[in-house]
Amino acid sequence: MTDANRAVPDDAYAALGDETRLEILFELADHYEAAWSAGWLSFSTLCERVDVDDTSRFNYHLQTLQDEFVVKENEQYRPTIAALEVVTAVRSGTYDGETEPCENVIDERCPHCDQQLVARHDRHLLMLACPEHGTTLGYPVPPVAASHQPLEVLVELALRRHAADIESVRRGVCPYCWGPATISFPRESLPELYLRRETVYATVACEACWMSYPVPVPELLARLPAVVSLYDDHDLGPLETQLGPRDLSSVSEVELLESGMATVDIALDGTRLEVVIDGDGKIQQCKRSD
Ligand SMILES: [Zn+2]
Ligand SMILES: [Zn+2]
Repeated sequence: MTDANRAVPDDAYAALGDETRLEILFELADHYEAAWSAGWLSFSTLCERVDVDDTSRFNYHLQTLQDEFVVKENEQYRPTIAALEVVTAVRSGTYDGETEPCENVIDERCPHCDQQLVARHDRHLLMLACPEHGTTLGYPVPPVAASHQPLEVLVELALRRHAADIESVRRGVCPYCWGPATISFPRESLPELYLRRETVYATVACEACWMSYPVPVPELLARLPAVVSLYDDHDLGPLETQLGPRDLSSVSEVELLESGMATVDIALDGTRLEVVIDGDGKIQQCKRSD
């Protein structure tokens, strides 16, 4: 993707710089469930709900929102996914309750020094880190989350979502924008603040949006059915593939092959699973020996 593709499109985002237009998006979003039975809103109903007297002014605003944020079909107006995401972002980000940073130690320990890991939620980011060795998980979580759930729940959900994100990327789809996503390895360097594992890293990235981050190659396999059942056979849950003394980075050896592929050799108490992945992160072979 070129820099021109990444520039902010003037007309799309100028459309949002107006209170009435944002109210239109909020009204449409709030009609989401009712639309399944009652259909989307007509011009007059929408105009009435947004409470604008001047219909030509209202028409101008609605025109401005089409087609990026509002689609007109059979004389009804429905929100696009971009519109719903704007509403989600505004509502989760402008929560006006407790947004102070919160921090707590959790049961899991740092693989290098055995200190308890610290979970911290602050300004839209959930981090899990060893104070000495760096961050092992950084996941975008809006302020509203920490206002109604404890940190342990947020950590668990962030890990589950992270694993689901990787599954999406392994299928070539960005979990944030649904654009084309790629996996490439080996990655040469890691950000300064990362907790470094003794393994090979990959880069997971989207060609369309902002998503790009390093992942240990073994972690690419965290939700592979063969890996999940290997862990299950040893009474370990799926989250333990990602965190804890027997996480994938701790129990695997990665070997880079000349073909650009890699072998990930996972060993759990005498059971071995050998997975060959190609340079795009696709599984080429998976062999278990008990
Ligand atoms: Zn440490
Ligand atoms: Zn994306």
